[in-house]
Amino acid sequence: MNAPFPRPLSRPQGSERRGSVLELVGDTPVVLAEKLSPPGREVWLKLESANPMGSVKDRLALGLIEAAEKDGSLKPGQTVVEATSGNTGIGLALVCARKGYPLVIVMAESFSVERRKILRYLGAKVVLTPASLKGTGMVDKARELAEEHGWFLPRQFENENNEKVHEATTGMEIVRAFADAPLDAFVSGLGTGGTIAGVGRALKAHMPSARIVACEPDNSPVLASGVPQQYAEDGSPAASHPRFRPHPMQGWAPDFIPAVTARAITDGVIDEIVPVAGADALAWSRRLAREEGVFCGITSGATFAAARQLASELPEGSRVLAMIPDTGERYMTTPLFGDIEEDMNEAEIEISRSTPGARF
Ligand code: PMP
Repeated sequence: MNAPFPRPLSRPQGSERRGSVLELVGDTPVVLAEKLSPPGREVWLKLESANPMGSVKDRLALGLIEAAEKDGSLKPGQTVVEATSGNTGIGLALVCARKGYPLVIVMAESFSVERRKILRYLGAKVVLTPASLKGTGMVDKARELAEEHGWFLPRQFENENNEKVHEATTGMEIVRAFADAPLDAFVSGLGTGGTIAGVGRALKAHMPSARIVACEPDNSPVLASGVPQQYAEDGSPAASHPRFRPHPMQGWAPDFIPAVTARAITDGVIDEIVPVAGADALAWSRRLAREEGVFCGITSGATFAAARQLASELPEGSRVLAMIPDTGERYMTTPLFGDIEEDMNEAEIEISRSTPGARF
């Protein structure tokens, strides 16, 4: 049957009047991967690109800033500084712009140039750290700047409000969305670990049928090698892990085990850790865009690869939810768009060959 036109809105609350763009953060939709789910199984996608700046990190930025306003650790007009692979920075740039806090973002030079441009566009200052210093280098630099200038440091990798925001919002949204159709598994990658820690806690309490499955790059098996005791005890984040290797999943798997992640593992929130290959991440991101119309980033493809594999191993009728943390527009200068660049070069050569008088 053809869909009616105009199509009725599936989220009637989406057209309410709002006092601020910040009221649009969260309450993201879930959609079925109808074409790419394995036969007889359902893989659902939680679309965090529906947030105002297009990523799951809008939730965290708003949560951390509002918690700090409430407990008084952030003063009106105080500068905020944070280390981030980009999405947290972009979320903070939105929140700080709207609320009037100057913002300094520290990020490694290896992250995509689109992220840097969006940050600058929204009024943030960007401090780049050398790629060779990895994630630990950016965390150290942000801490140093905060101490030197008396700036507010949200500490996304350690802050307990990270998992609390996700438990109360992302997690409870999932519980409500699947109240009449419980999940067999929830699949997510980890940057800080806040998403999986918070959603995991909410599902353990309200939907115990759901296995909590973490994924990480197969060439960088940091979590698979276990959490050293001292991480869990003193929450010390910034020790570069010997099994870390550079990988294409920007936003996942830093070179250290964040305290948020260590707590989730030692508290038993994560049931399983599965590896994902970089090539599979790129291939599934592209298929999600081209076959499902879900335009997403590299970690989304990676999470879907793991979720689809898991669903195919579960009995028929199983239901799995995969996090889709952000949008594909943030990756135009990365390997995700590599096949398009080749196609475009070929197409342009074709055009110039067929143009009379063209010189080449
Ligand atoms: N995917 C992308 C693209 C991200 O930027 C992040 C966060 N850095 C994540 C996944 C992981 O989210 P979390 O920090 O909540 O583990």
